[in-house]
Amino acid sequence: MPESPARAGTIRTEAVCRHYHMGDSVIPAVDGISLDVAGGNFVALLGSSGSGKSSLLNLIAGLDRPTSGTVIVDGRNLAEMSSEELSRYRRHNVGIVFQAFNLIPTMTLIENVELPMRFAETERGERLKLAREALQRVGLGARLAHRPSQLSGGEQQRAALARALVNRPSLLLADEPTGNLDSRTGSEILGLIHALNEQLGMTVVLVTHERALAERYAERLIFLADGKVVGDQLNVPAFPGIAGRGSGAETVTTRPGEAL
Ligand code: ADP
Ligand code: MG
Repeated sequence: MPESPARAGTIRTEAVCRHYHMGDSVIPAVDGISLDVAGGNFVALLGSSGSGKSSLLNLIAGLDRPTSGTVIVDGRNLAEMSSEELSRYRRHNVGIVFQAFNLIPTMTLIENVELPMRFAETERGERLKLAREALQRVGLGARLAHRPSQLSGGEQQRAALARALVNRPSLLLADEPTGNLDSRTGSEILGLIHALNEQLGMTVVLVTHERALAERYAERLIFLADGKVVGDQLNVPAFPGIAGRGSGAETVTTRPGEAL
């Protein structure tokens, strides 16, 4: 039988380094990391503060370039891309959420979510339709005209997720997405990311320093220390997701009947 084609969203790093030069000293934030992540996987990057998690994520996101080594996403070497190609890659292939929600306060939710598509030159009617669908997908279909200040932290992070996913990227990169949320709301956000991973099939790389959270949601735990991988293990998530796997008791936080 012919091999089935690899799913979109495969990540390969080969001896990737990002060394920051500060005056006379060099900080090896990412120091020779080689990793293979299969398309559609949900992996967690764990490690204490300063271990290099964000630096590695930024290299995968195409927000920064390696000092040496390569980052290859879906067979394309990011280091060989021109800055225009790299910004196209970020626009079309990568959705990213951070600890800070980074919503524009003067814009409504639908305007915030529609914003990335303006740069992708999508026609306005289509933009609004996709933004509405993305907000419905994260349970905010009734909040389209709200401004960020009128929402809870959890709702703002849901909106940031909708914005990250509106272009249907093959990678969802999340850097401490629960850092500004109470633990219950943080779990809800990760439950939502988990459900979206199963429904949409994008690869998820979750940066967190909370091992318990990673164990509940991720299929693989990668541990960093001093810019190096010091552990890499498979994990059976305790959260059931929509496929009903695992043994957790929580329910999916999106509403039934919404387009998912
Ligand atoms: P983590 O996300 O795991 O907390 P980071 O990737 O942010 O770690 O940082 C790894 C190391 O690189 C730290 O020592 C940090 O101080 C340093 N670092 C991060 N970003 C920069 C930068 N832009 N310039 C210089 N040093 C940096
Ligand atoms: Mg960080």
